[in-house]
Amino acid sequence: MESDLTFEPTNPMDDCCHTVDADALPCPKCEYTGPVVGVGPVRPHLLTAVEGDWQYCVDAECRVVYYLGPEVVDSASVITQVGLKATDKPTPVCFCFAHTRAELAEDLRAHGGVSEIKAEIKAVVADGNCACEHLNPSGKCCLVDVQRALKSFARPVG
Ligand SMILES: [Zn+2]
Repeated sequence: MESDLTFEPTNPMDDCCHTVDADALPCPKCEYTGPVVGVGPVRPHLLTAVEGDWQYCVDAECRVVYYLGPEVVDSASVITQVGLKATDKPTPVCFCFAHTRAELAEDLRAHGGVSEIKAEIKAVVADGNCACEHLNPSGKCCLVDVQRALKSFARPVG
C-alpha cells in the first residue's frame, strides 16, 4: 500500500476540480449566480441535502453558502468555514468536504498511519466531484493541503 507519508501529488489541478456551470441559477438572496458544486460539498453541513445541482454563492457579503433553487444552507448552519464565508467556524483543511486538521490527525491515528479521508477525497476528485477552485480560498486543490497536514502529524512533537 502506498504510504501517506511519501505520497507527493504532482499537479492535481490537471486532473480535478473542473466543474460545469450548466444551468446555473442566481442565489435566492443576493441574486449573484454562483458555480454549480453538486451535493457532495453540501452533505457534510446538511446530511439530509437532496441530490441536485447545488450551487455555491461566492458573494462574501451574502449569508447563503449553498443553494438549490429556494433551498439554502447559510453561514450559521455550516460546521466549518467554506471559502471566505463562516470564518467564525473552524477552518478545514479540505474545504470541499469540511475535514479539519483534528479530523485528519484522528483518522491517521485510527488507521495505523494510513488516511482513509485522503483516499476518499482522492476517489471523489478522480470522479470530478470536488470544487476546490471555488471552495478553497487558495483556489487550489485541497489534496495538497491534506497531504501537507498528514505529513506534519508524522513529525515528532516538541
Ligand atoms: Zn448569495
